[in-house]
Amino acid sequence: MKFETRAIRIQTERTQHREHSTAIYPSSSFVFDSAEQMQAVFEGSEEGNIYSRFSNPSVKEFEEKIASLENVESAIATASGMAAVFASFLAFLKQGDHVLASRAIFGSTFQVLSHTLKEYGIDCTYVDPCKPETWKEAIQVNTKMFYVETPSNPGLDIIDLSYASQMCKEHEMLFNVDNCFATPYLQQPAKFGADLIVHSATKFIDGQGRVLGGAVAGSKEHIEKVYQFIRRTGACLSPFNAWVLSKSLETLAVRMDRHCQNALELANYLEKSKNINSVKYPFLSSHSQYKLAKKQMTQGGGIISFELKGGIDNGIKFLNAVKLCSLTANIGDTRSIVSHPASTTHLRMPEEERLSLGITNGLVRISVGLEHIDDIKQDIEQALNSL
Ligand SMILES: *Cc1c(COP(=O)(O)O)cnc(C)c1O
Repeated sequence: MKFETRAIRIQTERTQHREHSTAIYPSSSFVFDSAEQMQAVFEGSEEGNIYSRFSNPSVKEFEEKIASLENVESAIATASGMAAVFASFLAFLKQGDHVLASRAIFGSTFQVLSHTLKEYGIDCTYVDPCKPETWKEAIQVNTKMFYVETPSNPGLDIIDLSYASQMCKEHEMLFNVDNCFATPYLQQPAKFGADLIVHSATKFIDGQGRVLGGAVAGSKEHIEKVYQFIRRTGACLSPFNAWVLSKSLETLAVRMDRHCQNALELANYLEKSKNINSVKYPFLSSHSQYKLAKKQMTQGGGIISFELKGGIDNGIKFLNAVKLCSLTANIGDTRSIVSHPASTTHLRMPEEERLSLGITNGLVRISVGLEHIDDIKQDIEQALNSL
């Protein structure tokens, strides 16, 4: 079956009530008919749910969908995107190991790699996402994993997935890809050889700004390791959030089509604005990695970044001038969202370090929503004209 059909029709078995939409299973534990059955489920000779930190039917349905949509054997759901990222590290890395990571990654992931893991004796070296020829030089004898995000947040850099996975194979490293910006509808990293795929389901997968969630997808063997880590340490997804996210996947394809259509139209419009130095969107031919983006993704995604003239001051002015778009710390919502990293998410970072991550003073990120494109454009236009 095709992507859209699997996203809708993979479903937990119906209960005796014959509900059409899937039931939700908010139960912390599950009962057994006998001591023998309980023993069988505990020892694994019989399948069954024991306790919702281990497994839950609502969570299972979401996991089966994610695995199917990412074209991999297995997936495990987590309480948030960061829980997925962290589990994908700790399930495979130990003291003395080294991680290679793209410099262009989500802020909290950068903190985990630079500080949290370091305190446990796991080191990290950052590489330039756009210069694959320099990656190999950073590999050490103890490098166990290459971690990337593509397209990246907020700079929309593209990682060459085939090249990276080939390099990882040659050096026996795990290739771990944050596929949050693209979603499995636009890009399936496993097709290019990724071993692990992590998601913040909070973003486009929920798509309506309601719940936090995450997932790690990959081979049975790899996901079993992540599963054991989550099961023991407790960053499991709640049944309610899993149910919401599973329903969200039913509309992922149509939502992403419209996010991408609106974003491309807005990106084309922004390129003509005289208040803007440059626009970055993977499917604009002016993007320096346009060809690569076209090879790996079916559409350009819902996020645009652009560089305003006038630096920090105009960034703040622009945010104050928008009327329809929301000022909020999220992306991938039905509602369009604008943010100015230099005065918010990256405020505390030393300027030099921030600039080296491509987060310039005038950089604005727009998560293009599902409102009518005419209204989105009009709002951005009046805000730009007010500068
Ligand atoms: C938001 C985000 C995360 C973290 O997800 P949470 O659900 O907020 O924990 C990780 N990676 C990317 C690219 C994100 O945008």
